Amino acid sequence: MSADQMFPPVPAYYDPVTVFAEVFADTDLAGDLAEALTCSEVNVLAGLLACRDPRAAEAWLEEHRQQCPTPHIH
Ligand SMILES: [Zn+2]
Repeated sequence: MSADQMFPPVPAYYDPVTVFAEVFADTDLAGDLAEALTCSEVNVLAGLLACRDPRAAEAWLEEHRQQCPTPHIH
Protein backbone atom coordinates (compact mmCIF):
# COMPACT_ATOMS: atom_id res chain seq x y z
CA MET A 1 0.00 0.00 0.00
CA SER A 2 1.43 3.36 -1.03
CA ALA A 3 1.39 6.56 1.05
CA ASP A 4 -1.22 8.01 -1.33
CA GLN A 5 -3.51 5.10 -0.56
CA MET A 6 -2.98 5.36 3.20
CA PHE A 7 -3.49 9.12 3.56
CA PRO A 8 -6.03 11.27 1.76
CA PRO A 9 -4.51 14.02 -0.37
CA VAL A 10 -4.17 17.40 1.34
CA PRO A 11 -6.41 19.94 -0.36
CA ALA A 12 -4.57 22.70 -2.16
CA TYR A 13 -6.61 25.20 -0.15
CA TYR A 14 -7.40 24.50 3.49
CA ASP A 15 -9.31 27.09 5.49
CA PRO A 16 -9.25 26.26 9.20
CA VAL A 17 -12.00 28.81 9.97
CA THR A 18 -14.33 27.09 7.52
CA VAL A 19 -13.57 23.71 9.07
CA PHE A 20 -14.12 25.18 12.55
CA ALA A 21 -17.49 26.59 11.44
CA GLU A 22 -18.55 23.28 9.91
CA VAL A 23 -17.78 21.42 13.13
CA PHE A 24 -19.28 23.96 15.56
CA ALA A 25 -22.40 24.69 13.49
CA ASP A 26 -23.90 21.59 15.13
CA THR A 27 -26.83 22.92 17.21
CA ASP A 28 -26.94 19.74 19.29
CA LEU A 29 -23.34 20.42 20.28
CA ALA A 30 -24.29 23.99 21.21
CA GLY A 31 -27.13 22.66 23.35
CA ASP A 32 -24.81 20.29 25.16
CA LEU A 33 -21.84 22.62 25.69
CA ALA A 34 -22.85 26.30 25.59
CA GLU A 35 -23.96 26.38 29.20
CA ALA A 36 -20.63 24.90 30.33
CA LEU A 37 -18.64 27.71 28.71
CA THR A 38 -17.82 30.96 30.45
CA CYS A 39 -19.22 34.19 29.03
CA SER A 40 -15.86 35.04 27.47
CA GLU A 41 -15.43 31.59 25.98
CA VAL A 42 -18.83 31.53 24.30
CA ASN A 43 -18.37 35.08 23.00
CA VAL A 44 -15.02 34.16 21.42
CA LEU A 45 -16.45 30.96 19.94
CA ALA A 46 -19.49 32.78 18.54
CA GLY A 47 -17.33 35.58 17.17
CA LEU A 48 -15.20 33.23 15.13
CA LEU A 49 -18.18 31.11 14.10
CA ALA A 50 -20.04 34.21 12.90
CA CYS A 51 -17.34 34.70 10.25
CA ARG A 52 -18.83 31.76 8.35
CA ASP A 53 -22.19 30.93 9.96
CA PRO A 54 -23.94 33.78 11.84
CA ARG A 55 -27.05 31.67 12.54
CA ALA A 56 -24.95 29.00 14.26
CA ALA A 57 -23.17 31.69 16.27
CA GLU A 58 -26.51 33.01 17.49
CA ALA A 59 -27.58 29.46 18.41
CA TRP A 60 -24.56 29.12 20.71
CA LEU A 61 -25.29 32.48 22.34
CA GLU A 62 -28.98 31.67 22.78
CA GLU A 63 -28.18 28.34 24.44
CA HIS A 64 -25.69 30.06 26.76
CA ARG A 65 -28.06 32.94 27.64
CA GLN A 66 -30.59 30.49 29.08
CA GLN A 67 -28.42 29.98 32.19
CA CYS A 68 -26.21 33.05 32.09
CA PRO A 69 -26.48 35.55 34.96
CA THR A 70 -25.39 38.36 32.62
CA PRO A 71 -27.17 37.64 29.31
CA HIS A 72 -26.93 41.27 28.23
CA ILE A 73 -23.21 40.88 27.45
CA HIS A 74 -23.87 38.41 24.64
ZN1 LIG B 1 -22.77 34.52 29.77
